[in-house]
Amino acid sequence: MQFIDLAAQQVRIRSEIESAIMTVLNHGNYIMGPEIKKLESLLADFTGIRHAIGCSSGTDALLMALMAYDIKQGDAVFMPPFTFISTAEVVSLLGATPVFVDIDPTTFNISPNELAKAIQAIKNKDNSYPLPRMAKETSLIPKAIITVDLFGLPADYDPIHDLAQIHGLLVIEDAAQSFGASYHGRKACSLCEIGCTSFFPAKPLGCYGDGGAIFTNNDGLAEKIRSIRVHGQGEDKYNNVRTGINGRLDTIQAAILIEKLKIFPEEIALRQQVADRYRQLLAKSSDIQTPIVPDGLISVWAQYSILTKDSNHRQAIQKKLNASGIPSAIYYPKPLHLQKAYENLQYQFGDFPISEQIASRILSLPMHPYLKKEDQQKIADVILSISD
Ligand SMILES: *Cc1c(COP(=O)(O)O)cnc(C)c1O
Repeated sequence: MQFIDLAAQQVRIRSEIESAIMTVLNHGNYIMGPEIKKLESLLADFTGIRHAIGCSSGTDALLMALMAYDIKQGDAVFMPPFTFISTAEVVSLLGATPVFVDIDPTTFNISPNELAKAIQAIKNKDNSYPLPRMAKETSLIPKAIITVDLFGLPADYDPIHDLAQIHGLLVIEDAAQSFGASYHGRKACSLCEIGCTSFFPAKPLGCYGDGGAIFTNNDGLAEKIRSIRVHGQGEDKYNNVRTGINGRLDTIQAAILIEKLKIFPEEIALRQQVADRYRQLLAKSSDIQTPIVPDGLISVWAQYSILTKDSNHRQAIQKKLNASGIPSAIYYPKPLHLQKAYENLQYQFGDFPISEQIASRILSLPMHPYLKKEDQQKIADVILSISD
């Protein structure tokens, strides 16, 4: 059994993918070939956003979004600590400071209540909320929030945008896991002024290498991001008007994504069926908490993550799954405030109790559109045999 079965998907569209790659080999425009524009227009239509800008990865999408907003040293950028390292890494790369905010215990996304407390603490320079060392030594300017749509579920945007408006903060959507999800009828990647996604192979829409995209309705920002994507270029290639990066998406990856996007809506529906089946199968156990999706939201199920009773219970389940040939994974075992890479922020264990607790109990099960009923039954049987 596979955790994410990319081979099953490839079998379906293998010949289309081969001919799409052949087309690129024949025309030879490997850098910014015609497939890039075509994909960008398809992505824009899919999300209902004016500008979709293909790029080299989800990490670079976030980096370029922050660069477009001129985020720099002395700026505070709020984010949950229960996420992949990229969310914080890009902030540090620009010399700005990640300011962690605890998560909601049911959605695992950034908690608007906690966010309000963290913003106040930064503004008042007091100890009413755990803050990074820099916030205590100097004054940080509250600049931006990076929300994360964890496991494919959009964050709690209405209260987040209210807070952002009150405090004059920018909001960037880290939709690396949520392309295809929706929030009250609006698509993920369209829920903030800038949305960023990843096409890493294991994401809901993945290519066969690294890739990502940035979304915005703001014409000025789009132009700036397109310039940053190619070394800060101006009118032409050797006229550089700002500091940029090499942040382009490969033409071959765009060609692959065009083919994958054709079956993506159907795959989203299949993912939902798989999630529904897990919920029904695991409802029999009062020891297991299955994911909770708030009304009006649709998850794209980048991961199907259950909450076990405690770390011992999780370990027992994982061991038995493993013995039965069933893969599982822990996203994420260590919240970012406890990572060595962030020891300079001088956060401590206990600063974000919900993130720490969830990190000790979370367990992600196999999840992909082609997961078979029989396999799900087998997974549930193993889990139920050590619960209750
Ligand atoms: C995967 C991921 C990223 C980074 O995407 P890459 O394409 O791997 O660079 C950023 N944020 C989150 C939440 C992710 O899951």
